[in-house]
Amino acid sequence: MSLLTDLRESVPSRAFGPGDSEFDAGRTVFAGVGEPDAVVRPHTVGEVAEAVARAAAAGQAIAVRSGGHGLLPVEDGLVIDLAEFTSIDVGDDGLVTVGGGAHWGDIATALAPRGLGISSGDTRDVGVGGLTLGGGIGWLVRAHGLAVDALREVELVTAAGEVLTVNAESHPDLFWAVRGGGGNFGVVTRFTFQAAPADGLVGGHVMFDTTDVAAVIRAWRDVMRAGPDALNSSLMLMPPFAPEIPSGPQLAVATRGTEDELRRLLAPLLSLPSVTSVSLSPVTLGDLLEDAPPGKPPFQFVGGNGFVPELTDEAIGVIAAQFAREVPTMVLLRALGGAFSRISPDATAIAYREAEALLIVNAIVAPDAAPEQVAALKAGSDAALAFTHGAYGGFSPERGDDVTRSMYPPATFERLRRVKAQVDPGNVFRQNHNIPPAD
Ligand SMILES: Cc1cc2nc3c(=O)[nH]c(=O)nc-3n(C[C@H](O)[C@H](O)[C@H](O)COP(=O)(O)OP(=O)(O)OC[C@H]3O[C@@H](n4cnc5c(N)ncnc54)[C@H](O)[C@@H]3O)c2cc1C
Repeated sequence: MSLLTDLRESVPSRAFGPGDSEFDAGRTVFAGVGEPDAVVRPHTVGEVAEAVARAAAAGQAIAVRSGGHGLLPVEDGLVIDLAEFTSIDVGDDGLVTVGGGAHWGDIATALAPRGLGISSGDTRDVGVGGLTLGGGIGWLVRAHGLAVDALREVELVTAAGEVLTVNAESHPDLFWAVRGGGGNFGVVTRFTFQAAPADGLVGGHVMFDTTDVAAVIRAWRDVMRAGPDALNSSLMLMPPFAPEIPSGPQLAVATRGTEDELRRLLAPLLSLPSVTSVSLSPVTLGDLLEDAPPGKPPFQFVGGNGFVPELTDEAIGVIAAQFAREVPTMVLLRALGGAFSRISPDATAIAYREAEALLIVNAIVAPDAAPEQVAALKAGSDAALAFTHGAYGGFSPERGDDVTRSMYPPATFERLRRVKAQVDPGNVFRQNHNIPPAD
């Protein structure tokens, strides 16, 4: 019996195949359209468990869809689409319980009336599932750490179809692993976070011309080093790319306080002669979140990302040189440090906690660029990435053992493999940055 036929019997009216609109919705993510054998859109945890148990018994791969902004479309097997798991419950104690398919924009909207927020990403439509399990780097990362640092509990369906409540006391190793180990350990149907104060924000953008890009990066580094944890920002070096998109260094910034206070914190940046515009005003966390582009742009990105332990003047020189390359190259520096760095490297699976920034560098070329050109560009990006450790999987659009290993120090990777062997020895949750079970 095919997987789809089996699922149509075991989870009636929740299983979908080719020709069904739910099938197409479930197999489509930001990076493209996958090729699963079946999509199940459950309404209850029991239905999730039933579908998982059936697919696992048949030896099929199982993938999960939460917000659908993943970078790795599935290749076969079953997709569990959590589109019906979007509830958001805010408790008086600031504990927020959300379904595994909720979106961060909706969570920000639900928390705003109480002046609360959860550290998440920068984009409204991204799902709670993929972003949280991968770590979650966003607007409140220096103020409150990663999304996983705010996580208190998950409800997780294992490969055996068991429903577990996982927290610091119950299955602590598994709780450690889901905080950064991605979707390797089961289907998370419910997340509980501790929300934090996120009211009284002020933020916006500062734009610069390209006369001295290195000076902008140095001033940004110094501002962020001297600034309070509440000061969060990222610096994008946008190449000349399309006439309608402004190019040059672009600062996105926010803090708690007044506009005058923010201007004082940013003074070394604002006094640079290359500043072309400043736009700062009171904002909410929801205002800061952006809409995602409609899908992956039709280009090839050649580069990668990594955690920068120390943004030295030498590193800044090499990073600035990326921007001057002939081929348009996009560079993003996301400020870390603050609360992010006060979490112990072994408290969660995200271990590169000493970093003061995350660096993303990508040359943009046509999909059919010659291999020699791609290799030359890769070498250029690698020159900047040489100043980094590890990689952030949420921004790594390729599968492969070397990619997954690059995300974790060796001891963390081996610990993840041991947890994986306990909850998914058959590696059915493998359509991700895969952690193979320990032997
Ligand atoms: C436009 C855009 C902006 C982004 N911005 C940020 C950002 O600011 N900060 C940041 O940290 N990341 C960011 N990312 C990366 C993002 O966190 C990852 O791509 C993430 O996987 C997307 O999560 P999702 O739930 O939307 O995607 P999905 O495609 O639904 O899921 C991705 C993968 O996560 C796993 N997964 C998802 N939900 C569950 C679940 N409930 N249980 C088990 N496994 C699950 C599965 O392996 C799945 O294949 C961005 C990505 C895009 C496309």
